[in-house]
Amino acid sequence: SPALVRAESLIRSIPDHPEPGILFRDITPLLADREALQATTEALVAPFRGSFDVVAGIEARGFILAGAAAIEAGTGFVPIRKAGKLPLPAASVDYALEYGTATIEMHDDLPAGSRILLIDDVLATGGTLAAGRRIVEQLGYHVAGISVLFEIDGLGGRDVVGDVHTVFRS
Ligand code: 5GP
Repeated sequence: SPALVRAESLIRSIPDHPEPGILFRDITPLLADREALQATTEALVAPFRGSFDVVAGIEARGFILAGAAAIEAGTGFVPIRKAGKLPLPAASVDYALEYGTATIEMHDDLPAGSRILLIDDVLATGGTLAAGRRIVEQLGYHVAGISVLFEIDGLGGRDVVGDVHTVFRS
C-alpha cells in the first residue's frame, strides 16, 4: 500500500550508532507519522488476526509497537522487561549479546494457555526474540506468532527465532 511504502521511507539509517561500525535503523520518524504508524501497526497484526489473546512487547521500542498493536487488535498488552524493572517477575531468561549477556523478565498474570503475539521493532541476530519466545513458553503460555517491524538481513536472526513475520527488511 502507499502508506506502507511511505512508512518504509521513514526508517532512517544512522552510521556508527551506538558504536563505530553499527548501522542503526532509527524508526522514530516512522512513529511520528500518523499514516505510517497506522499502516505499520495494521501490517504487524494482519497475519495473526483472531489467533491471539494478548500482545507482548520487548523493552523498550517493542513496547510502543506492541501497545499500538494491542489497541488495533482489541487485546491487552504485557511487557517483557530488562532484569530488575518488574516488581513480581515470574520467569527470567538469560541470553547472549555481542559482548556479554542480558536478562529479560515477565509476570505471569495471564490465564493459563494464553496465546501471545510477540512484537519487537528490529530483528538483528535474533537473540532477543528467541529469548522472548523462551520466556513466554517457560510460563506455559503459547506463542501465537512473532511480528517485527524491520529485519536486518544477513545476521541469521530468522534462523535463530524460527517462524517470524517481518514488515520491512534490508
Ligand atoms: P538481536 O537480539 O536480534 O541481535 O537485536 C534486536 C534487539 O536489539 C531489538 O530489541 C532491537 O530493539 C535492538 N536493535 C538491534 N539493532 C537495532 C537497530 O539497528 N535499530 C533499532 N531500532 N534497534 C536495534
